[in-house]
Amino acid sequence: MNSYAIAIHGGAGTISKDTITPEQELEYISGLKAALEAGEKVLKKHGSSTDAVEAAVMALENNILFNAGRGAVFTHEATHEMDAAIMEGAQLRAGAVSGVSNIKNPVQLARAIMDHSGSVLLAGEGANEFARKMNFKFEEDDYFFSQYRYDQLMKIRDTDVVKLDHSVSDSPNPPKRFGTVGAVALDLHGNLAAATSTGGLTNKRYGRIGDTPIIGAGTYANNKTCAISCTGVGEYYIRAVVGHDISCLMEYKGLSLEEACNELVHHKLMEMGGEGGLIGIDAKGNITMPFNSEGMYRGMKKKDGDFVVEIYA
Ligand code: ASP
Repeated sequence: MNSYAIAIHGGAGTISKDTITPEQELEYISGLKAALEAGEKVLKKHGSSTDAVEAAVMALENNILFNAGRGAVFTHEATHEMDAAIMEGAQLRAGAVSGVSNIKNPVQLARAIMDHSGSVLLAGEGANEFARKMNFKFEEDDYFFSQYRYDQLMKIRDTDVVKLDHSVSDSPNPPKRFGTVGAVALDLHGNLAAATSTGGLTNKRYGRIGDTPIIGAGTYANNKTCAISCTGVGEYYIRAVVGHDISCLMEYKGLSLEEACNELVHHKLMEMGGEGGLIGIDAKGNITMPFNSEGMYRGMKKKDGDFVVEIYA
């Protein structure tokens, strides 16, 4: 009997009981549950894994707690430049967008790029122009404003520091958080898909792009092996070509999903100094959610009833 399964993440980092209040914890848990439900609803009705990961990521983009869509962090110029990607494992189709502003749901734009543009990756003003042509929903700057994120920028704006989504504290080493969001799923037709969305790093400039929209780095799906969505310091994930590397370890070296993901997260990335985590699913619906940071907002749900929503190690 065919099965379905979905996993999501809302970023990794210095996330421990003492860096989050009990109220915040509840808000994060309910945000993660809502996203899992949005994805599962599609899978239950025999919908595609592509539609499921898109729905789950949209739910997280609409939640101001996470560094994607509405909750995207500020650039050096106090604007928002968002990146997103989506990939289908069946035909290795992919769509991605980088450096877009005022788009309510960047993952939807990545999907439209995959389905209708003939290209894989569109950036900046050109991507916004394509979005207008496709009648996309734009939001005013106010929609993306949160005092918390603005304070994050103000703390480091006069420095050359670019920061992961961090807490606004006076400590020289404030807790680091990677609030990027992502989803991976297997549908009842046996197809895998992955999607990731992010605002990137606070105080980023010069058109900096992370791993999220780089197919094979932060986002990857291949029916022969797995679907992967990453969160962490993007530069390391690009250099380690994380998503594709995991797929290759499975396809060419016969590693299991768990072995391949652990190899990247606990060895290759660690040796380079790359902090973060990822979620992965294989063609049998096995799920793994490893991270080398203190915590990762994460959850998964399977047709057989398995259900997990967790934050800490
Ligand atoms: N990977 C993202 C980036 O480098 C950051 C994150 O995971 O929060 O843009």
